[in-house]
Amino acid sequence: MSMNKQGRPTGTGTSDFASVSGSSLLPNEPLLFEIGDREHSGVDLPDVEIDGSFLGGFERQTEIDLAGLTEPETLRHYVRLSRLNYSIDSGMYPLGSCTMKHNPRLNEKMARLPGFADIHPLQPVSTVRGALELMDELAHWLMTLTNTAAVCLTPKAGAHGEMAGMMAIKAAQEAAGQGHRKVVLVPESAHGTNPATAAFLGYSVRPVPARDDGTVDVEAVKAALSPDVAAIMLTNPNTCGLFEPEVIEIAAAVHEAGAFFYCDGANFNAIMGVVRPGDLGIDAMHINLHKTFSTPHGGGGPGAGPVVLSAALAPFAPVPFVRKGELIEHADGQHLGRITAFNGQMGMYVRALTYMLSHGGDGLAQAAKDAVLNANYIKARLEAVFSVPFNGQPVMHEALFDDSFLEGTGVSTLDFAKALIDEGFHPMTMYFPLVVHGAMLVEPTESESKQTLDRFCDVMLELATDARAGNAARFTSAPTRAPRRRLDETRAARSPVLKWERPEDLPQAAE
Ligand SMILES: *Cc1c(COP(=O)(O)O)cnc(C)c1O
Repeated sequence: MSMNKQGRPTGTGTSDFASVSGSSLLPNEPLLFEIGDREHSGVDLPDVEIDGSFLGGFERQTEIDLAGLTEPETLRHYVRLSRLNYSIDSGMYPLGSCTMKHNPRLNEKMARLPGFADIHPLQPVSTVRGALELMDELAHWLMTLTNTAAVCLTPKAGAHGEMAGMMAIKAAQEAAGQGHRKVVLVPESAHGTNPATAAFLGYSVRPVPARDDGTVDVEAVKAALSPDVAAIMLTNPNTCGLFEPEVIEIAAAVHEAGAFFYCDGANFNAIMGVVRPGDLGIDAMHINLHKTFSTPHGGGGPGAGPVVLSAALAPFAPVPFVRKGELIEHADGQHLGRITAFNGQMGMYVRALTYMLSHGGDGLAQAAKDAVLNANYIKARLEAVFSVPFNGQPVMHEALFDDSFLEGTGVSTLDFAKALIDEGFHPMTMYFPLVVHGAMLVEPTESESKQTLDRFCDVMLELATDARAGNAARFTSAPTRAPRRRLDETRAARSPVLKWERPEDLPQAAE
């Protein structure tokens, strides 16, 4: 697009996007730098003479080198990019362990109230009393739902909450003269963040084998316990979608050995309002607000992963926290200090509390039960064709299948997932947990209607029939209807191109 000297579009230029792919009308979206150019600006501004004297000689000497764009060019660029995305707002997203549930618009409305949206962390505390009250109320709900003594709201994600909880465990043990405990037990089916957190804090990781039915055996835990064990990190419900039947015995054995029980609470959606983890003997557990409490997922942020703590760990909670309406920023004694610069993700606190208050305690329990019902419905509809590796008990929030139904078809688990994209669904979690060959972990959540679940199951069954009928090409060539086909993910991770070079600045090939 060309512009006049003031930067207004003249309307005689080329289209502001380069080409349209296939029949989908989805643009091959260029970069902002390729749409605009540095000669123009999207706004009319008078030329100003800069008197550099009061800038202390720091005024810019070179062009700012940003692309000049008009408001519609900018807006359309981002709207077009958003249309290349699949999201929970466009369709079912059955990604196991991630609890991709609907984000109610009421949450968004509340988070935009100026009293929450427009406050600044450096504002005097006396001017943000309402925000503090909201944090206090959210903390109260989280402690009540889990039956625990304290909560640290500030971690920015589940993995960060895990780290905060394990830091509290480490601090408690050092304070008790137990700093020599350097081993953390982690079951084989654990999420990768568990061993990563333990290793990050200087612990060595001792794996606990899973039983044939996908759960953890208290005898295996007892065999792995020793005087150098600091804690166990156990996920419940676990990543196979199963409630750990011996969780109370495991907690007792761990405590008996002088260690703590860190519970990975990422799957709390299956039990909220039904089971209080504190009653099971946990000492610390993170709660991913973006999973259980319907705040948006966002590529590792901007999220919130509060961690609840038992009475034994409460004195080691990081600051800040709200107590009797006051923001406690410096606590005496053994507190860990801060783990974030300010007070955490206010916008997520508002959204999560909105979800809690709009459901009520009974509504949260109903949502958990509906999530479990939906997962069992999918399991029941698919299990005649899709093999279920651990079929001893009903599942909780997610159904785990393996890929043995694909044996001899020439179709891999990955191919199968890619074919699901062509049918309008985001694939399920693939190849996790690692204890199952070719795992496919399906988590529908409570948000989906029976019609959507049925359509998903119909598509899964039709794909399985087609794979077994020898139509491997449909799978190995998929996706064909997505804006991009298969990407070279290894090259993208190993040699990412993170900086755009102007064509004229690129080294020219020798003639
Ligand atoms: C999602 C998840 C985590 C990590 O949480 P993030 O919020 O993504 O950092 C840890 N454990 C399990 C079982 C999970 O599903």
